[in-house]
Amino acid sequence: MTVLVHPQALENFKVRDFQMLIDGKWTNGSSGDVIERKSPGHGVVVSRYQAGTKVDAERAIAAARVAFDTGPWPHMTGAERSNILLKAADLIAARADELAYLDCIESGKPISQAKAELGGAVDIWRYAAALGRDLHGESYNTLGEGTLGVVLREAIGVVSIITPWNFPFLIVSQKLPFALAAGCTAVVKPSELTSGSTLLLGEILMEAGVPSGVVNIIVGTGPEVGAPMTTHPHVDMISFTGSTGVGKLTMANAAQTLKKVSLELGGKNPQIVFPDANLDDFIDAAVFGAYFNAGECCNAGSRLIVHRDIADDVVARIAALSAKVKVGDPLDPQTKVGAIITPEHLAKINAYVRNAASSGATISHGGELLNLGMGQFMSPTILSAVQPEMAIAREEVFGPVLSVLTFETLDDAVRIANSIDYGLSAGVWSRDFDTCLMVGRKVRAGTIWMNTFMDGASELPFGGYKQSGLGRELGRHAVEDYTETKTLNMHIGSRKVVWSVN
Ligand code: NAD
Repeated sequence: MTVLVHPQALENFKVRDFQMLIDGKWTNGSSGDVIERKSPGHGVVVSRYQAGTKVDAERAIAAARVAFDTGPWPHMTGAERSNILLKAADLIAARADELAYLDCIESGKPISQAKAELGGAVDIWRYAAALGRDLHGESYNTLGEGTLGVVLREAIGVVSIITPWNFPFLIVSQKLPFALAAGCTAVVKPSELTSGSTLLLGEILMEAGVPSGVVNIIVGTGPEVGAPMTTHPHVDMISFTGSTGVGKLTMANAAQTLKKVSLELGGKNPQIVFPDANLDDFIDAAVFGAYFNAGECCNAGSRLIVHRDIADDVVARIAALSAKVKVGDPLDPQTKVGAIITPEHLAKINAYVRNAASSGATISHGGELLNLGMGQFMSPTILSAVQPEMAIAREEVFGPVLSVLTFETLDDAVRIANSIDYGLSAGVWSRDFDTCLMVGRKVRAGTIWMNTFMDGASELPFGGYKQSGLGRELGRHAVEDYTETKTLNMHIGSRKVVWSVN
């Protein structure tokens, strides 16, 4: 591990103040309270947001409701909405550096990665714009001479969008443009730790021509602001990304008024590697998969399931590469692993590592908290001799910590992979096509990577099996997710009397 420190990067830094966006107006919260956000990499306050309350959430929901029920947005043509979304994409691209910088200093992710995420987000906005023009239902001309069936796709209504802190701009971009393309209106609540780039998005959308009230962006804690967004009777759908625990609560809240829910939740994703794999490719992907975004990633490849014959070699090679990973100042363009989101989260990661070691796992690399004189950092860490029943093998750690388990047969590997509650994604590594396909079919996860890891594209659906979520984002059905289906059953000609009083 190489440590990079450039604390001078934040000298002369001016703290940024943000308001909330409700009904097209920038406004302070009703409480007058402010949330201060410290940069995880530098330990200094970088952003101040208005702390919203239930009252603010209700104002935002009311604005979105009126904008849906009476506003122009749901009634525009697909082309009109699409053109506005394309303009938004151009404006996001033009302000990408500013947005990436905010994500970097508020979340602690490396600046190079934040810029790459912005590139991905622009592509998603363009893809959603294209899909929005093609949104259509079905017709049935096969129901007999007297019947024509038409199936409409209608915007579902007001959508609550709640997002986490680990990919602030990317995750709102996996939801909002599709909801807008369908003709919905929205209330958006980013994480209270990383709200800056989502609030800037509000400026961009207004400039692009999104009418007032269509997108409302409020800031605040989950219980205060998020919870009313999941219970309010004027909300029709919730699109939530976050922890499995809050996802379950969200679903229970939504049940009171039977809202549609889309949930993108946690993961504990296995990479299964066979002895015939291209190990050079695999070692690189294992290190990338485990430490990308400091492991604070739902898709992190945090469980390696390695064939026993190659386990020692694999651990040694991963440890050697881990030693070269550059950890440090998120603003340094060379940094690969930045800071951990909060001191409390760092303590949680550390506790997982200590508990694993005391339960019999071996710390084969790292395992240290790093004192860089600013912020909070953890070294890339490898735990070997992990057993499938240990907490470290089953629970989401959300830090740069890799657990290594071993297997003997393909069925063993699949059984270990499927033995936990999560099912977000998985990787399989082998030069044998049959092996890849057999594992790919048997592992219960929403995405299976074969001889690669954590690749993605706007065209490919993403989401989880089991307790990793409900529904899929991205892909060509993503806009449809924000619609209701309505059947028009039409009779042609005079209707045959079937229930005559005579
Ligand atoms: P979190 O569940 O604590 O918070 C997510 C969001 O929910 C935040 O905006 C938070 O304020 C809000 N929230 C909290 N309590 C709430 C409540 N009672 N009602 C309504 N909203 C509430 O998650 P986090 O710590 O911000 O993010 C990390 C988690 O997100 C991890 O579990 C990770 O796996 C998951 N995640 C999943 C995906 C995916 O696509 N599957 C992507 C990224 C992150």
